[in-house]
Amino acid sequence: MTIKSLIRTIPDYPKPGVQFRDITTLLKDADGLRQVVDALVERYADANIDKVVGIESRGFIVGAAVAYKLGVGFVPVRKKGKLPGDVLGHDYALEYGTDRVEIHSDAICPDETVLLLDDLIATGGTAEAAAVLIEKLGGQVLECAFIVGLPDLGGQQRLQALGYKTFTLCEFE
Ligand code: IMP
Repeated sequence: MTIKSLIRTIPDYPKPGVQFRDITTLLKDADGLRQVVDALVERYADANIDKVVGIESRGFIVGAAVAYKLGVGFVPVRKKGKLPGDVLGHDYALEYGTDRVEIHSDAICPDETVLLLDDLIATGGTAEAAAVLIEKLGGQVLECAFIVGLPDLGGQQRLQALGYKTFTLCEFE
């Protein structure tokens, strides 16, 4: 089965009108999980990546597997207050209010090449905030990769307008 066909859509979650793309059905399928990890590893195998950064929480799952296969370290970007050490944080706008993501200050070394991974890009606000943190630590974002893109919400265009390359394994209208 294809990656896209293994992703379940939950209507009206977490609020009415939202079509939530649920990747747990993809992750629980051995072949689906392998397809996702193998596709990303193949894409970045020769890219001289130093670190994979995954965004909480579903970005951790695939991010750690890809980092392991690429033979590089994994770094988590987490929501506010979850990381125990010294952190660098970045606030970003939501539809209503703001949110904040954080990274350990010593997680990336200057000039390291970083692959940014998350399960899904919608408006791109979360990925943009994570990319800003990586760059503030001196890292270079090679590409921002996602299992799912929602092009109608403009996230990929937003990141591209800021100079980031983006990649998605599948898209939902
Ligand atoms: P953005 O910041 O608007 O691009 O939202 C992306 C973030 O929200 C990612 O960390 C996703 O995990 C999460 N997200 C938003 N919509 C969905 C969805 O339909 N399924 C899974 N995660 C989602």
